[in-house]
Amino acid sequence: MKFQYGTYNNYKARLIVYADICKKMLSDIGIETAKNIDFEIEMQENLWGLTTLCGNDAYVISINYILLDFSYMNEFVKKDKRKCPGLLNTIIHELLHTCKNSMDHGTEWTKNVKKVYEKYGIEIHETDSNKRKGIPNDFYIDYLPYALKCKKCGALFGYYNENEIPNIKKNYCGACAGKLIRIK
Ligand SMILES: [Zn+2]
Ligand SMILES: [Zn+2]
Repeated sequence: MKFQYGTYNNYKARLIVYADICKKMLSDIGIETAKNIDFEIEMQENLWGLTTLCGNDAYVISINYILLDFSYMNEFVKKDKRKCPGLLNTIIHELLHTCKNSMDHGTEWTKNVKKVYEKYGIEIHETDSNKRKGIPNDFYIDYLPYALKCKKCGALFGYYNENEIPNIKKNYCGACAGKLIRIK
């Protein structure tokens, strides 16, 4: 099992609930998203969200499990009241890609991003760091049972299961290719 705190379907069900809220927020301010959108959970750690056009006005939106996991764990653990703005702004970022002529971060997409900020105060960027997504740097140390750290750049990599931990003799930091050490 990939998730300690929930299953893939559990996260997908949560994502659909959040996506409905976001769609309504957008239609309330006159932004029309596509009618035909499927949702998936993105398992690649370095991708917050992705929108793929797959046919005539049909889209698949993938949202990173970390965003769903973090918001879920906040409720589950109850000790951490920090919000996860990243979940909302990532879903909206991707939903805006399903508007007309909006697959890139061009004029149409940017116009809607401005509108969302003006109406809701939600900041949407082309790319985001953990910090801007509201994911604390110590996320892995706080919540996940196993973690590696890059000796060179300090990047942290967390794991639910011991068998997911890469061999640190053979693997290097994905960000800077530095050596990894086990910290947990
Ligand atoms: Zn984008
Ligand atoms: Zn590194």
